[in-house]
Amino acid sequence: MPDRRVLLLPALVLLAGCSREPQAAIDPQLAGEIANIKAIDNHAHPVLAAEGDREFDALPVDNMEPQSDPVSLRPGAFHTPFTAASKTAAKKQHGDQYPAWVLDQMGVDIMLANRVAMGASIQPPRFRWVPYADALIFPLDNSLLAAKNSDRKAFFALEDKLRARYLTESGLQAPPPALAEYLARVVTPTLERHKQGGAIAEKFEAAYLRSLSFDSVDAAQADRVYRQRTPSAADYKALQDYLFRYIAAECGRLGMAVHLHTMAGAGSYFDIAGANPLNLESLYNDPALRKTNIVMVHGGWPFTREINAMLQKPNAYLDFSGQSLLLSPATLGVTIREWLEHVPEKVMFATDAYPYSAEFGWEEGGWVGAARGREALGRALTAMLRDGEIAHQRAVELARMVLRDNARKLYGI
Ligand SMILES: [Zn+2]
Repeated sequence: MPDRRVLLLPALVLLAGCSREPQAAIDPQLAGEIANIKAIDNHAHPVLAAEGDREFDALPVDNMEPQSDPVSLRPGAFHTPFTAASKTAAKKQHGDQYPAWVLDQMGVDIMLANRVAMGASIQPPRFRWVPYADALIFPLDNSLLAAKNSDRKAFFALEDKLRARYLTESGLQAPPPALAEYLARVVTPTLERHKQGGAIAEKFEAAYLRSLSFDSVDAAQADRVYRQRTPSAADYKALQDYLFRYIAAECGRLGMAVHLHTMAGAGSYFDIAGANPLNLESLYNDPALRKTNIVMVHGGWPFTREINAMLQKPNAYLDFSGQSLLLSPATLGVTIREWLEHVPEKVMFATDAYPYSAEFGWEEGGWVGAARGREALGRALTAMLRDGEIAHQRAVELARMVLRDNARKLYGI
């Protein structure tokens, strides 16, 4: 359950007209209703109950060059009900049901698990799989891309490893000589295996590896680049663009969504401008991709208005994972209100629960993200109520949509 004290605390005191009675930042009745909605968490990285799990991310970001950490990511920024001792005790008590128990503490019914692979303790119905597809769009020699900086070096080593795994799973030792064969023997079978394994979406962390502008490239040009093995950076980008669109179209055919990281990301070398959701416009405008729902994970911060405009594309969705950790509920609430005034059917709750550190694990991240995400949503809806834009019933309906119903409809769960 979320922390009701947080939700009911009148952190921001508003004066209504001439009255000197302080008004809560969140309508108290609405806060109670929001707290009781069992959520679907659109994006998170739950960790297995068993020790030593490293498959919670294709690109674990714990060994990057230092950056200037935002205030909210500094040690001791948040307080949660968890301690090292309480987590150990709960693991002992719940065994393989420990991750599901963590969801209960967060008020989350279903969590989309963005993981390389699922495991015994992270299974449907409480967890739904979102595997990674980036490795498939970098099939050639990545040493030039890796040489760009130390973060990219670490990332491409991990992508090369994951691609080797996808090749092995496809019964191959090396990528086939021609592009058509690579698509037919590696890319499509990998996506189909993921689907068979319960995947409801494919995740791209591409924003950590390159810009999000995926151009339209014809197959003959892509095949020429593929056969080069060590192409120039510009030629290689064209091949990646082709592969990305091929995978997105295949996801549509298979009934899986595409998840894209859209937010300033971790590390001091992250290409923030490259992650601007406006870079995705030509993708959304590609008639061949209209059957693929593309979810902009993390809500595009700092480009939260650009992403709002993108919601008019029929297959565009977003969630606010990560922003509930990075920003105060007051700040995020303003953004959520803008989105809800525009296309509210495409806005989804998510936490980005992740094992950030030994002290701030996926349990703490998920709990804080859920509590603050609910608080931000409550603030947005309360402001709309007080401005006479919506009635109470519609506020509750919008809360249900964001916390649960929009995701349920999108994935058919
Ligand atoms: Zn994430």
